[in-house]
Amino acid sequence: MEKRELIYEGKAKKLYTTDDPDLLIQYFKDDATAFNAKKRGTIEDKGVINNRMSEIFFGLLEREGVRSHFVERLSDRDMLVKRLEIVPVETVVRNIVAGSLAKRLGLEEGGDLPRPIVEYYYKSDPLDDPLIIEDHIYAFGYATEAELAKIRSMVLEVNAVLRRFLDARGILLVDAKFEFGRHKGEILLGDEICPDTCRFWDKVTREKLDKDRFRRDLGNVEGAYHEMLTRVSQ
Ligand code: 5GP
Repeated sequence: MEKRELIYEGKAKKLYTTDDPDLLIQYFKDDATAFNAKKRGTIEDKGVINNRMSEIFFGLLEREGVRSHFVERLSDRDMLVKRLEIVPVETVVRNIVAGSLAKRLGLEEGGDLPRPIVEYYYKSDPLDDPLIIEDHIYAFGYATEAELAKIRSMVLEVNAVLRRFLDARGILLVDAKFEFGRHKGEILLGDEICPDTCRFWDKVTREKLDKDRFRRDLGNVEGAYHEMLTRVSQ
């Protein structure tokens, strides 16, 4: 399958059409941004690692019955995916207090949540992806009630599957962001699943093995991405 026309370039990925109107190629870049692109850099081989790690996670989820846009990894940086009409909502699931939840509610990072929290953010760069509630999603037609119910149940299932898999490899899934889209009338999981979109902590040392190393200038960013790929490849 060959790349045809570039139809979208985001902060971490490019999307190309193919000869098949139902399929796109997702190209993974090394560019890294944080705080809505106010901080920019590159993480060497990030694209290669995120492509491979997403393949592993999407494959795992498929075996567990979670439907996604993933078709196959074509090369180091190219992934063949089903074309989605993206739902303009980022869904975040949290198991441990961190990041914007800690900041918004004045909580210390690291506390276990009694049950997973699901949050919705409106996908908008000019607005810095604001937190929204379900009624906003229905009122502005971002998704129907039936679609959001499906998204919520899929996110909780994905969270449970990933937590089990990662726990066996000594990793805590602190939180994660997922995107969904419509394909031939069905809601599918889209985007990527990697250290850019999830917080991963070592279970024993609680060392951060994700993009927070870049966001917070903690050093050894590349090392953390490589360590995560090694763990999930076990
Ligand atoms: P927080 O809301 O605490 O900043 O992020 C929660 C989780 O969602 C983290 O795992 C973070 O990586 C992910 N996340 C939230 N928003 C974005 C985003 O715009 N881009 C990416 N790559 N990840 C995000």
